[in-house]
Amino acid sequence: MRDLVPPHEASRALSPPDLASLRVGGVGIDYVTRFESGVAGPDVVINALCHGNEICGAIAVERLIRLGLKPRRGRLTLVLANVAACLRFDPQRPLASRYVEQDFNRLWSEAVLDGCGTSVELRRARELRPIYRQADVLLDLHSMTNPCEALALCGDTGRARALALALGFPRWVVSDPGHAAGRRLIEYGAFGIPDHETPAGAGAPVALLVECGQHGQPAAADVAFAMCLRVLGHFGLIASSTLARLLPPLASGPQRVVDVTDVVTASGDNFVFAADYAGLDVVPRAGTIIGYDQGWPVRTPHDDCILIMPARRVRRGQTAVRLGRIVACA
Ligand SMILES: [Zn+2]
Repeated sequence: MRDLVPPHEASRALSPPDLASLRVGGVGIDYVTRFESGVAGPDVVINALCHGNEICGAIAVERLIRLGLKPRRGRLTLVLANVAACLRFDPQRPLASRYVEQDFNRLWSEAVLDGCGTSVELRRARELRPIYRQADVLLDLHSMTNPCEALALCGDTGRARALALALGFPRWVVSDPGHAAGRRLIEYGAFGIPDHETPAGAGAPVALLVECGQHGQPAAADVAFAMCLRVLGHFGLIASSTLARLLPPLASGPQRVVDVTDVVTASGDNFVFAADYAGLDVVPRAGTIIGYDQGWPVRTPHDDCILIMPARRVRRGQTAVRLGRIVACA
């Protein structure tokens, strides 16, 4: 598997936090830490390490635990999900620790969770399921293979999109229908209920996935930490003065909302891109060939097509790239 951090740069890349020190967190499930306010309010879950090599989120969670911030209302639960994969992390082969047996972030339907499958990831998902099911708010922290600006993935609910815009960061907000290979955590249970099926007036559970930047880059950990603080501030778990004091200085700007129009799923193991796309590339003309799936050209379906997270290495049935268009600028 291709290394993403050349050896001479490895020393500048992030290292996972001391996971052993984060194992016991008062919930009775390893690597889950909870802070209770004792005051009514939302149940906020911040999730890191869906993928074992995406350590920016784990670093942000460790920072929050070390700060010992007691929420002013509701409760805050910090989850390190696929620790088994992260424990295998090797900075020279960062892609190899994405998962142990299967992708933790493709398991999130009751049919899969209640099915007869067994794997390291399924066991952990079944263990963590009650935590996610109880949550009113889920922030799921990830990072990307390519050097790409941070982006929020909202799934296809309007309430997640509204949350991303209310947070004001990151600049790119992407509504997407997910992957053919399985449902993501942000689509699990009540998080994925369509807006029109949620009880009127009630705050339906909402989940946001944030791709914080490139794997291993220190800036990704700052983005992850900033997202945690913004979510905690937005839902009133921390005071605005605390938010202002702790928020890392990051470049921001007007947000752009992208609707995913097509999900390109590889039909075999031989998918190649026509250029070295990094993500958020804009292809001006409809019909432009952007890659070849088993030798068949893949063309952009419309003008000003935005490429979302082109995969460096993709197998049959996996998402090669998502294609979208800008529908709003905030
Ligand atoms: Zn991920």
